Amino acid sequence: MHSMKKKGHLYRSLQAMSILPLLVLGFVITIFSYYTVKSALHAQMQTELKNMTEYVMLTYELLYSGDYHLEEESAQFMKGNQVLTDDSSIIDRLKAETQIDITIFYQDTRMLTTIMDADGNRITGTTANTGIVQDILYSGRPHFYTNTNINGQRYFAYYAPLRDNRGDIVGMVYTGKPCTNVQATVMRAVLPIILIALIGMVVVSLISSSYTRRLLNALQKIRVFLSKVSTGNLWEELDADVLVRNDELSEMAQSALFMQRSLRNLVEQDTLTELNNRRFADKRLKQTQINANTFGNNFVIGIGDIDFFKSVNDTYGHECGDIVLKRIADVLKNHMLEKGFVARWGGEEFLFLYDDTNLKTAYAETEKLLNEIRSLAIEYDGQPIHITMTFGLAEGGLNTNIHRLLQVADTKLYEGKSGGRNCIIA
Ligand code: GH3
Ligand code: MG
Ligand code: MG
Repeated sequence: MHSMKKKGHLYRSLQAMSILPLLVLGFVITIFSYYTVKSALHAQMQTELKNMTEYVMLTYELLYSGDYHLEEESAQFMKGNQVLTDDSSIIDRLKAETQIDITIFYQDTRMLTTIMDADGNRITGTTANTGIVQDILYSGRPHFYTNTNINGQRYFAYYAPLRDNRGDIVGMVYTGKPCTNVQATVMRAVLPIILIALIGMVVVSLISSSYTRRLLNALQKIRVFLSKVSTGNLWEELDADVLVRNDELSEMAQSALFMQRSLRNLVEQDTLTELNNRRFADKRLKQTQINANTFGNNFVIGIGDIDFFKSVNDTYGHECGDIVLKRIADVLKNHMLEKGFVARWGGEEFLFLYDDTNLKTAYAETEKLLNEIRSLAIEYDGQPIHITMTFGLAEGGLNTNIHRLLQVADTKLYEGKSGGRNCIIA
């Protein structure tokens, strides 16, 4: 439970570490692009409305000469001699082409407009907001509004003063678009950016999530391996994928494997001779017997003991005895390569196992080994030391009792010793 919790925690923090910055970045990109697009669009709209306003003024100026005024008796809106009241054909045509609403004010009152109310009637005769009247009519300067209320609807608007030939302000020209249109245009421009940011975030988080999962998988395998080794399982195998990752984790896995190997050596190897120790031999013998019982193949075990080893120690010293032991061990190890195994069974006693062999062949092999040992001259202090050994051999196979078989080999060795040593008894 505890370990699962730990894995989950690490997974979550790694995920958060990769996804959180992305979320923030995505958010920032979205906000930033929204405002950039919005301000660019507003700037463009402003130019458009300003041009339109100038175009409207110019059009009326070219078509009808004279000043804008109200006819005293009929209260008609005129420019020069031309009655403008109720003739919205020009501004209607312009709106049809540009979607821009247009209003012409006399003072603060709408005289001509393309804006309709809910019933489809033009809102002529109504007046402009007092704020706008202040801004335009009294200050005499044109003005943009990003959000002005006209007849219950919100507009992005431009108002400019309308002047007569003497330069006096007689009214205003309004051009604008409903805010919802502007908003929709901004959203249309920003949406692809948001979409791309979103897709990017999903893709990156998928990649990071799969990377994290693989990382944690490897970590988990190493963790399980280490926990098995720590409870004494020195033969546990480590998944090969973890070792080929080529990163710090695979280095860690490699170290875990080396640690396991070192532990195995500590436990199953004799430190002086670097041969397998008795513990290892016991295990291998048991396995050999199981194999023999399953497959019916024969094998031979042998116990070899160095002759008069005590006198080597007595004559040359214990240190020399160690050197002799090591040299003999090397010879034994080489001899047993690919034939079976050899282990240090006791002080100067060794156990052999010949796999898939009968007594005759094993005897011949041991004879070769004994000859090699006899011909050895181990140098110590400038003097050659000659060694002989005595061997007892016994053959096992289907349903042999290993313990009994060892006793047989031991008896043969004893026979060899009492018979004069330097020989093999089978
Ligand atoms: P035998 O031919 O009957 O086997 O005579 P032996 O002298 O070889 O046998 P014995 O059992 O009398 O003496 C074995 C000696 O081996 C006694 C012990 O001190 C020595 N010995 C055992 N282990 C080591 C070791 O690791 N290093 C050294 N230097 N001597 C060892
Ligand atoms: Mg001996
Ligand atoms: Mg002995």
